[in-house]
Amino acid sequence: MEVNDAHNYLAEATAASNIESFMVFGGEPMLYPKRAIATFKEAHKLGIPKIEMITNGVWGRNRGTAEKNRGTAEKLAAKLKMAGLNKVNISVDAFHVRHIPLEYPQNAALALLKVCIENVKWNVAVIESINAENEYDKKTNRILKKLEPLGIDANIFKIEPVGRAVENLRRYFQPTSLYGPCEGEPLTGTMLTNPESICIEPSGTVNVCWSLSIANARQKPLSQIISKYDWRQNPIIKTLVEEGPTGLLKLPEARNYKLQENHYINKCHLCIEIRNALKH
Ligand code: SF4
Repeated sequence: MEVNDAHNYLAEATAASNIESFMVFGGEPMLYPKRAIATFKEAHKLGIPKIEMITNGVWGRNRGTAEKNRGTAEKLAAKLKMAGLNKVNISVDAFHVRHIPLEYPQNAALALLKVCIENVKWNVAVIESINAENEYDKKTNRILKKLEPLGIDANIFKIEPVGRAVENLRRYFQPTSLYGPCEGEPLTGTMLTNPESICIEPSGTVNVCWSLSIANARQKPLSQIISKYDWRQNPIIKTLVEEGPTGLLKLPEARNYKLQENHYINKCHLCIEIRNALKH
């Protein structure tokens, strides 16, 4: 996301609403540290109390100890602190460790604690639970045990069957009913009728659930998008609230969509697949 766009969205959002929390996540926000830092500074200037980031901690590979060669991880952590960042979730689990050695997020966490960002947590994805017997959750459990000496708490959340999770982990998910209204976004509890959070993509698309767009903030002021939001005016959202994802099949643009009941794991899986089909 361009910094100017992010600044504009922050100004618009704070004009329209009392923003409690602002979060940057990815991908990996620290691939573009200057942009993220400029955005955190603006959020801080606007008085947003919680300024948060989810990171995979890959930037912890550059931890140095000698004073003359002070580690770039610590320098970066200090800049983040100065910019107003006060809460960091670092992703560590069996899925991340395949690509990022555990030492990196560990070093990133130590650097953040050293510069006195106290609200640092592990962000841990499990399929069933942290004590489950499947190979991934067992590995994640071992990872958390290794990290225990750091004394950092973990936020443990269950993986939703969307995107690549469906392709790669299908055998671990228990299918649930596809029928009935949407019960709200499982990760944040956001309801479609009165969203408590929005997510803005680099393209300006404003979402209230996974790729469920209500407008584009590059085309319309975000303050108006927020203040004028009415779920009844959006045929897809109205259908999801009143009937759920299977109701989308009645929309004229879904007439060629073939429902394959056994293919879907839950309502959200079905919802996302139909909505993707409607876009094309
Ligand atoms: S993906 Fe669809 S069904 Fe699931 S929470 Fe979002 S809007 Fe509701």
